[in-house]
Amino acid sequence: MSDNHIDEHLDGAGFETRAIHAGYAPDPTTGAVIPPIYATSTYAQDGVGGLRNGYEYSRSANPTRTALESTLAALEGGAHGYAFASGLAAEDTLIRALCKPRDHVVLPNDAYGGTFRLFDKVATVWGVEHSPAPVTDVDAVRAAIKPGVTRMVWVETPTNPLLSIGDIEALAAVAHDAGALLVVDNTFASSYLQQPLALGADVVVHSTTKYAGGHSDVVGGALVVDDDALAERIGFHQNSIGGVAGPFDSWLVLRGLKTLALRMERHSDNAEKVADFLGTHPAVSQVIYPGLADHPGHAVASRQMKRYGGMVSFRVKGGEEQALAICAATKVFTLGESLGGVESLIEHPGRMTHASVAGTDLEVPADLVRLSVGIETSEDQLADLDRALASTT
Ligand SMILES: *Cc1c(COP(=O)(O)O)cnc(C)c1O
Repeated sequence: MSDNHIDEHLDGAGFETRAIHAGYAPDPTTGAVIPPIYATSTYAQDGVGGLRNGYEYSRSANPTRTALESTLAALEGGAHGYAFASGLAAEDTLIRALCKPRDHVVLPNDAYGGTFRLFDKVATVWGVEHSPAPVTDVDAVRAAIKPGVTRMVWVETPTNPLLSIGDIEALAAVAHDAGALLVVDNTFASSYLQQPLALGADVVVHSTTKYAGGHSDVVGGALVVDDDALAERIGFHQNSIGGVAGPFDSWLVLRGLKTLALRMERHSDNAEKVADFLGTHPAVSQVIYPGLADHPGHAVASRQMKRYGGMVSFRVKGGEEQALAICAATKVFTLGESLGGVESLIEHPGRMTHASVAGTDLEVPADLVRLSVGIETSEDQLADLDRALASTT
């Protein structure tokens, strides 16, 4: 369901204009400039089968969700967007839409933990197999592909929490050579900083819980594609499985998207300053940020991203004990999981977001700290980190 006629005047419009105007025209009866939260499960019909604008039942389509889905598509440069109850609901729908038993998927060897669990503990039960490859190594990804069996090459870039960078254009070529689709989880970069479809990806996945929503007040997910046949399969499975975004959640994400460009600029400004500050601090042994010239993915990130985003990871000299102490000592940076909201967050991946991969290939260093740098005043963020580092060394 998408009211494409609304968006014709936006052809060629800039990202910020599309973020604010795509997907919805002021309501014809009231002039409401923002889509109402259509809290309705069903729709009156004008005679049997006489649907008004195609609305029949809210699992199949809901006007608030339609506005979000059209906006998501417009921002990713794709023809079709789909909104889900969570990022993982989006991923699950995609797996079922594209894979059948004995199909194979190449996964990042440092995939988001929930994505790995979905493939490893759920999809395998239904006969969909997976094997890991580092997104940074195009040859390793090519070697992991099983020709004729691999259906998807799944990529995150930047990855979590080590912020590795995959070359989307090169990976798309490798996937397509083998008859596979390239799926890019664009959650960390956001549609503003990175446009995978334009670089050759076939499907873009988002946890809209993160930067798209941007205010830590909603859980949601999205899929965006350009290809009509792919869209039809996804749309059919979205309705058949039913993991859809509700109207209020859709409205929150839509509201968040309007300021995505502004937020990502400030997240990037602040994260660059945090990375520079940590790089000069004697208690810090390594700063991991794609915007730093010494990051191994810096050249690729510079090519495919507008800026480098709000996520910064760093390692401390005092080992796990000091990493844990810093996480407990900050005040502007709230100790918590998740990312991408206006507020700064700090966490210890080894004990928190990545605890479930301890002892596997995905294990992360114990002295690693991950920051989601928010949009507070930069000086306050730096002073907070300075105080926390001083109190723990
Ligand atoms: C959070 C996240 C997900 C999962 O999204 P949910 O909304 O939590 O279901 C998927 N991929 C990445 C990169 C994430 O950060």
